[in-house]
Amino acid sequence: MEQQMPCPVCRTPIFFNVYHLLQGERFVCPNCQAAITLSPESHEPVQNALDKLDKLKQLQQK
Ligand SMILES: [Zn+2]
Repeated sequence: MEQQMPCPVCRTPIFFNVYHLLQGERFVCPNCQAAITLSPESHEPVQNALDKLDKLKQLQQK
């Protein structure tokens, strides 16, 4: 399940897999090579992405 969020450094959209991120995988900005990991700063957008996924799944079930 691919998600994206703006790079904290240069705002380039970074595509990442939420489940891989939760498993500790690193994702690198294609523009500035900043690494995205599950740090306290990135936990909130990850949680938001998971919440959206849950809502999408609920919608699809109806
Ligand atoms: Zn960047």
